Amino acid sequence: MRRILLSLIVCAVCGGFVAAQQPAPGPVTAIRAGRLLDPEAGRVLTNQIILIEGTRIRDVGPNVAIPAGAQTIDLSAMTVLPGLVDAHNHLALTYKPEPESNIYYYTYVAESTALRAIQAASNGIQMLASGFTIVRDMGNNANYADTALRQAIEQGWIPGPTIINSGIIIGGMGGQFFPTPEMVKDHNIVYPEYLDADTPDEIVKAVRQNVLFGARVIKICVDCKPYGYTADEIRLFIREAAKVGMKVEGHVQTPRGADAAIEAGIWSIAHSGALDEAKHKLMAQKGIWRAGTETPTGIAGHPVSEQAYQRTVAGLKNAYDNKVPLTFSTDADYYVAGKTRGELCLEFLKTWKDAGIPNADILRAITINGYKVSETEKTRGPIKAGFSADLIAVPGNPLDDVDALKNVRFVMKDGQVFKRDGVMTPAAFFHGGPVNGWRIR
Ligand SMILES: [Zn+2]
Repeated sequence: MRRILLSLIVCAVCGGFVAAQQPAPGPVTAIRAGRLLDPEAGRVLTNQIILIEGTRIRDVGPNVAIPAGAQTIDLSAMTVLPGLVDAHNHLALTYKPEPESNIYYYTYVAESTALRAIQAASNGIQMLASGFTIVRDMGNNANYADTALRQAIEQGWIPGPTIINSGIIIGGMGGQFFPTPEMVKDHNIVYPEYLDADTPDEIVKAVRQNVLFGARVIKICVDCKPYGYTADEIRLFIREAAKVGMKVEGHVQTPRGADAAIEAGIWSIAHSGALDEAKHKLMAQKGIWRAGTETPTGIAGHPVSEQAYQRTVAGLKNAYDNKVPLTFSTDADYYVAGKTRGELCLEFLKTWKDAGIPNADILRAITINGYKVSETEKTRGPIKAGFSADLIAVPGNPLDDVDALKNVRFVMKDGQVFKRDGVMTPAAFFHGGPVNGWRIR
């Protein structure tokens, strides 16, 4: 008996990467959509029925038969569309005017991983309430609070977006930080925020550590320090991540860093300050995603000079004109009084409008391109038969006015209603145990 028990335990442990258990087909729900927005085609279809069975979409169309006993949700006065994606957020980091004067170095010192994981749970719920059903969480999450968040959502403890998390950001010594010699010597302060990797061996090991501790994408600091990474070193990251099917995003802040990342063929580049027309053309050629994190003017406590903003707007417009693959991304990691994390992220639509990008293409960036950069596009995102049942609804038509996205009244995630008539009703998402399986890691 003991031996059987032991082998059961061993089996369970080696099954660590087993995917979510397939739930039995669940209850059937029919949504009557007055308008159904298809961002891929850039059009709206009227009077559609979306049939959902359990966690998945079973059928979509104008003449879909509603089975007897199905629950019906009437969104006939609304525009239904697929969920939104923020391709660069930091859910387990929230720096604040008080007490840290918006200096995140102090947040790292003052707040534990445990507290930040709970903040992440709250921020995730705030994102979902604003219609973000997928968030790429790109580091600065203390000691893997991002993995804890993803696991808690996937196992079924709490509601939240689908999380594509990076684990700890990997960089040359110091990361994005300027630690004192004392900090470096003892590695006992701020060090959870960055993994040092300065040699090929350290690069391989750092990637493996993040894989082991639950990352779904690898995030590197390409040029946070003068030594930075060469194209060859970035290629090593890409090769090592590819062994487990993961992609690499690079934080880029200098032209030289951008050149190295582009030459190496990195998956996505975060931030846009170092990208010019020549680099945009290369990115378009190579299909490198741009997660530009284009901060608008007008966010309280986070002033952007008019000059800097015009540069950001011109850069985004130039990327669009050169057909760079664009994602909607915010880098949101701070508290603005009176706004949820989701509301804060939607403020970033301003930059896209000011860049003159047509609403249809803004919508593609914040949906379809988000699924692609997150690599969920074959399973989650589009409102199509067989896909996970994630969808949202707004009263207006975002193709006419993209700010209609700021009024998300209805959210469904994995077939469960999370928000209805503008009110969160998340009870169905809370469980006293890992109802989707404890093996999800
Ligand atoms: Zn960031």
